[in-house]
Amino acid sequence: MIRYFENYSLKAYNTFGIDARARHFFEFTEVTDLQELVSSRLFQSDMPRFILGGGSNLLLAGDFNGWVIFPNIPGISIEGEDRSFVKVRAGAGVVWDDLVEYTVREGWGGAENLSLIPGRVGAVPVQNIGAYGQEASEIIEEVSGVDIRSGVIYNLSAADCRFAYRDSIFKNEMKDFFVITSVRFRFDKFPLLRTDYQGVREELQDFKDPGVADLRRIITAIRRSKLPDPELTGNAGSFFKNPVVSKAMAVTLQSEYPALPVYDTADPQVKKLSAGWLIDHCGWKGYRRRDAGVHVNHALVLVNYGSATGREIYDLSEEIRISVLEKTGVALEREVNVAGL
Ligand SMILES: Cc1cc2nc3c(=O)[nH]c(=O)nc-3n(C[C@H](O)[C@H](O)[C@H](O)COP(=O)(O)OP(=O)(O)OC[C@H]3O[C@@H](n4cnc5c(N)ncnc54)[C@H](O)[C@@H]3O)c2cc1C
Repeated sequence: MIRYFENYSLKAYNTFGIDARARHFFEFTEVTDLQELVSSRLFQSDMPRFILGGGSNLLLAGDFNGWVIFPNIPGISIEGEDRSFVKVRAGAGVVWDDLVEYTVREGWGGAENLSLIPGRVGAVPVQNIGAYGQEASEIIEEVSGVDIRSGVIYNLSAADCRFAYRDSIFKNEMKDFFVITSVRFRFDKFPLLRTDYQGVREELQDFKDPGVADLRRIITAIRRSKLPDPELTGNAGSFFKNPVVSKAMAVTLQSEYPALPVYDTADPQVKKLSAGWLIDHCGWKGYRRRDAGVHVNHALVLVNYGSATGREIYDLSEEIRISVLEKTGVALEREVNVAGL
């Protein structure tokens, strides 16, 4: 199925609820639909392109004068299994949390801590989604997609994807030309629960022999109680990444700001800082200018209270970034993708 529109409103396609327009909007459900588009005369490959999922990690700073490509490919299928693992392929258009719900219902482990993260399967490898001590890269085996410069299909192994903290090859070298069409995951039939996260361990204390479904229930409840619902207040979750700095810099910062949360990483020479704390420390939590603001409880979440423009939110994010840099010397990096600047 193909749907094509010109000058199309994206308001319903981004969780900030920004009313920006796409010059060309192309939605499809089959890989061959996309191959047909890229070989057609309609598709001017030199125009800007943006690949859209659920729009939950996206700020539309203005209208997009190019092609918005929306792979709405459905389907979840089992590709193989052995005594320990099951391999599941999901189409790019599958809602991520529907896949998590399905695997948890089967009792398979690997995605339960990633419950309730908004968005579609196609975007999962892009920023290597993570939460509560789990990362998507731990369960991704293969990413399939189409290079829209040539129409050629590629299957990338997890190593090819160069996963890192909220990062992958799809955010870098392959940005905006490799359309992910499906992802193959590997789930564990005998999962070891990842409970070493603040709030989760305490909640699990009352369970005798907790399983993945219990963990999903707890994480879902924690997320619902903590994070603003985009249906009620436009937002895209964490706007900035937690900055990753050298151990030496973390020590210096902690001596100046003893309350600054510093987290270990896999590399003992590298530490992660709380971006939310830094933003709060610079006085931004709860700040509001017209309808663009910083959430009252979460300094890391920028919000649209109703009719903010994407540009207003973008400008606010720049002011925050500059003020944190000037006050603390830490350079924040946006986690949210910006289009239409
Ligand atoms: C309330 C809230 C909570 C959140 N919590 C978390 C969290 O805990 N952890 C976390 O990691 N993220 C979180 N996010 C961010 C977001 O949900 C994830 O990054 C999600 O994976 C984005 O999916 P999406 O389909 O909405 O992608 P989009 O926002 O549509 O796109 C994101 C990026 O992926 C690219 N992309 C999308 N689909 C494809 C495709 N098929 N092929 C190639 N590129 C593609 C886009 O071009 C863009 O660069 C949260 C967001 C919200 C609103």
